[in-house]
Amino acid sequence: SRFYSSSKLSKTITLPTGETYEQPTGLFINNEFVSGKQGKTFGVINPSTEEEICEVAEAMPEDVDSAVDAAEKAFNSDWSFGDPANRGKVLYNLADLMEAHKKTLTSIESLDNGKTLANAAGDVGLVINYLRFCAGYADKLDGEVVDTGSGYLNLVKREPLGVCGQIIPWNFPLLMWSWKIGPALATGNTVVLKPAEATPLSALYSAKLAKEAGVPAGVLNIVSGFGKTTGEAIATHPRIRKVAFTGSTRTGKHIMTAAAQSNIKKVTLELGGKSANIVFNDCNVDKTIQNIITGIFFNSGEVCCAGSRIFIQSGIYDTIIEKLKTAVQAIKVGNPFDPAVFQGAQTSQMQLDKILGYVEKGKEEGAHLLTGGEREGNKGYFIKPTLFTEAKPGMAIYEEEIFGPFGVITKFDTPDEALTLANNSEYGLAAGIHTENLNTAKYVSDRLRAGTVWINTYNDFHYAVPFGGYKQSGIGREMGKSSFDNYTQVKAIRTKIDETVGTKQ
Ligand code: NAD
Repeated sequence: SRFYSSSKLSKTITLPTGETYEQPTGLFINNEFVSGKQGKTFGVINPSTEEEICEVAEAMPEDVDSAVDAAEKAFNSDWSFGDPANRGKVLYNLADLMEAHKKTLTSIESLDNGKTLANAAGDVGLVINYLRFCAGYADKLDGEVVDTGSGYLNLVKREPLGVCGQIIPWNFPLLMWSWKIGPALATGNTVVLKPAEATPLSALYSAKLAKEAGVPAGVLNIVSGFGKTTGEAIATHPRIRKVAFTGSTRTGKHIMTAAAQSNIKKVTLELGGKSANIVFNDCNVDKTIQNIITGIFFNSGEVCCAGSRIFIQSGIYDTIIEKLKTAVQAIKVGNPFDPAVFQGAQTSQMQLDKILGYVEKGKEEGAHLLTGGEREGNKGYFIKPTLFTEAKPGMAIYEEEIFGPFGVITKFDTPDEALTLANNSEYGLAAGIHTENLNTAKYVSDRLRAGTVWINTYNDFHYAVPFGGYKQSGIGREMGKSSFDNYTQVKAIRTKIDETVGTKQ
C-alpha cells in the first residue's frame, strides 16, 4: 500500500520549549498524507544542534504527477468556477486556525530554520495577516466593460491560470508558503508546492490545517523533495500552467528556461539581491545604527533584500563605524529559543561554509574585517555578525549575494556618487536611505533602481505593500493587490449584438 501506517506518516516531536506536537511527514496529495511511490525519505536537520529532527517523504516525478492529477481535477470544479466568497471563507478559516496554532508554528519554524523565536513569531503574524488580506480579496476581483459602440458588448474578466507550481526557499519557509498559496487560492487556482529540502516542516503542518479549514481535496498539494528531482519535475511539467519561484538568481534562470521549453508556463520570480543601505550625513545616528543592524543581521542575514552593501557618507563615517562596531559586538548569537538571543543559526552547513568562505575572500581581496568573521561555538551553524570596511566594486564580497550576517561598508561623498554605486549592480530588490532631509530622500528614492525603497527603516514589510525585484532580482510582485495579477489571466468576451432588434415589433 502507498499509505504508511499512521505512525510512519507523522512523528511526535519534542520542542526545546518542552512541548510536544505531531509533525506530519508524508507528501500531502489530494488532502491525504501519503508516502512517495518509491518510498524514499530524507532527513531534516536542526541547524542549532546539527541533529536530525525527523525524516520526511521525498517526492519523485511520479508523485508530482499524482499531485498534478489531483490539482487538475480540483481546478475543474466549483473551486474555480463557484462563488469566490467560498474561497475567501476557507482562507479566513485557515488564518484563524494558524492563529490558534501560532505558538506551535512559531516553534516549528525556529526548530527547522534556526531563526529566533522572535523572528519566527514575526513571520507567523505576517502569514496570518496576509492570508486574511487574500481572503478578503477573493470576492473583489472585478473586470471591465469596454465600450466599442452599440454593436458589441465587450467584457474583460480575470480568470485563474490552472495548476500552479510553486517552489520556495528555506529562509522564510512559512512566509514564502503564504505568499505563494494565498493569492493563488484566493483567485481560484490549485497548487502543487515544493518546500525547500532543508525546511519542509511548517508547510506540512500547515497543510493539515488547510484541510481542517475546508480547502477541498486536490486544491493544495505539498511535495517535499530536492530541486534537481522534485523541483525540476514541477518546472518542466506539461500540465502545470504557471511556476512561481523564490530563491537564487541562478536557479531562477534555470526555472525560467525550463518553463519556456516545456510549455511556456507563466513565470514569476523572487530572486537574489545585494541591496544598498545608504547613510547620509544628516541621519538620526542612533536610529540608523538600529536600521543597519536590522538591515543585515535580521533573520541571521538570510534575507533576499538584506541591506548587505552599506554606503556611508564621509561626514558621518567615523561616528557610524565606531557606534556600529560597539552595537554589533553586543549582539547575542546562539540558541534561537533563548529570548535574549538576537541572531540564531544559519540554516545549513552549506550556508555556514559559504559565508566563512567569503570571510577568507574578503581578507584576500584587501577589505578590512571590522568585526566577526568566525563561527560562534563549535556545534550548530552559528556565525558572529560580520562587517568588512574598505569594500570596493569588483570584490566578490561587494558584488555577490552571500546570504548571511555579512555586510560590506563603503564610504561616499555625494548623493549622486551613492546612487551610482548603489545602482551599479545586476540586482535591484531593495534599498534603504537614512536621512532627515526630505529633499535628499525624494531625490535618491526616485533614482534607485530597486523594487522597494525603505526610508529611515529597513526590512520593514507590510502585507498590503507589494514586494519584488528590478533587474535580475525578479519578475512580478508579491503581497499587496499586485499579487493577484500573478495568478489571473485576462479573458475578453466580445459579443456581436443584433441591432435589428430596434426595428422589431
Ligand atoms: P536555490 O535557489 O537553489 O533553492 C531554492 C529552491 O529551489 C529550493 O526549494 C530548491 O530545492 C529549489 N531548486 C533548486 N534547484 C532547482 C532546480 N534545478 N529546479 C527546480 N527547483 C530547484 O537556493 P539554495 O541552493 O538553497 O541556496 C543557494 C543560494 O541561493 C544561497 O546561498 C543564497 O545566496 C540564495 N538564496 C536566495 C534566496 C532568496 O530569497 N533570494 C533564498 C534562498 C537562497
